[in-house]
Amino acid sequence: MKISVKIDVCSGHARCGSLAPEIYDADEIEGKCVVLNANPPSALYAQAMRGARGCPEQAITIQDDDSQTILWPPAKGK
Ligand code: SF4
Repeated sequence: MKISVKIDVCSGHARCGSLAPEIYDADEIEGKCVVLNANPPSALYAQAMRGARGCPEQAITIQDDDSQTILWPPAKGK
């Protein structure tokens, strides 16, 4: 799993960090998302997805390492 954040889309309300504190945090200046663990172990996959799903801006992208499939956000129309 590979996690990235579109920082220009992030509006900095830190919902991701409150839902998944081992994966996401907020920077001290603007409160924008900081990914603490961009390649988490499988034990943290569910937490990473929970934080990404909770982002109202869909600023977080999660990609499968092996297949390169985008796991989040869902493709438009699905
Ligand atoms: S929930 Fe989304 S918009 Fe809010 S801080 Fe996290 S990545 Fe940024």
